[in-house]
Amino acid sequence: MKQVVLPTGESVPALGQGTWMMGEDRARRTDELAALRHGIERGMTLIDTAEMYGDGASEELVGEAIAGRRDSIFLVSKAYPQNASRQRLPLACARSLQRLGTDRIDLYLLHWRGGVPLAETVEAMEALRAEGKIRHWGVSNLDLDDMQELVEVGGESCATDQILYNLTRRGPEFDLLPWLEERKMPVMAYSPVEQGRLLRHQGLAALAAERGATAAQIALAFVLRREGLIAIPKAGSAAHVAENAEALRLELRPEDWAELDRIFPPPTRSAPLDML
Ligand code: NDP
Repeated sequence: MKQVVLPTGESVPALGQGTWMMGEDRARRTDELAALRHGIERGMTLIDTAEMYGDGASEELVGEAIAGRRDSIFLVSKAYPQNASRQRLPLACARSLQRLGTDRIDLYLLHWRGGVPLAETVEAMEALRAEGKIRHWGVSNLDLDDMQELVEVGGESCATDQILYNLTRRGPEFDLLPWLEERKMPVMAYSPVEQGRLLRHQGLAALAAERGATAAQIALAFVLRREGLIAIPKAGSAAHVAENAEALRLELRPEDWAELDRIFPPPTRSAPLDML
């Protein structure tokens, strides 16, 4: 498994697993647990969840999937912006730990920026880290100006910015990704297959057929090409997980990259960061 090095020197898998919309439907639970466990067996041991997902149901599902193998997992969860204060963050974290059935979160993220000053969130994150409740902290959906402010208010130890990035959302290539790369701050690409919409793209499907791959694999190979990038596709079945895991083995030719640039042109100017 390709690895990405965090600012602390620790390595995590470049291909992880997302869990939004999982754990919400009893009828799908067995398949979802099998999907997550299959991913773990394939080395996709970084699992992303959030207190928001299913109002805690996703964290509970993840807790069940990793029971008995916690030490091999790199667990990522996120707090609502309104919980990112000095008083509320420890309480939100304690609730997440309870649902996840563990004593620590490996990477705890601010889900998006809200009304709490970034300096206060940094302080609250660092306090949780000192206590051992979390091992690293980071942010999500922060654009370049917010990231610059974060670093100015003492957030240099931010471990990642988790952002919307895929073939149809190439805006961050213009300025945010180079800024993160320069600081050796890993980026986490969420919705790497655009929540499934990319898989219905005719041009992508045609290229995939020509390469003997699937559209999902090409879309994942595209984001995973970047150094320091972690992709977290969500898949609700072991078959989809297995297909996605193969993306790391796909070797695209220069003409394939050129074709992708033709179908999904790179940005030519700065634009606000999209979020889902
Ligand atoms: P994704 O781009 O990962 O797409 C998920 C969808 O694609 C699902 O419907 C899934 O279907 C389908 N899919 C995945 N792999 C395949 C495949 N090989 N073949 C066919 N269909 C496939 O979207 P998400 O929005 O879920 O993003 C991934 C993760 O990123 C989230 O789950 C969450 O953890 C995180 N996220 C973070 C956000 C933030 O604000 N920080 C916002 C959005 C997402 P099926 O379930 O049937 O496999």
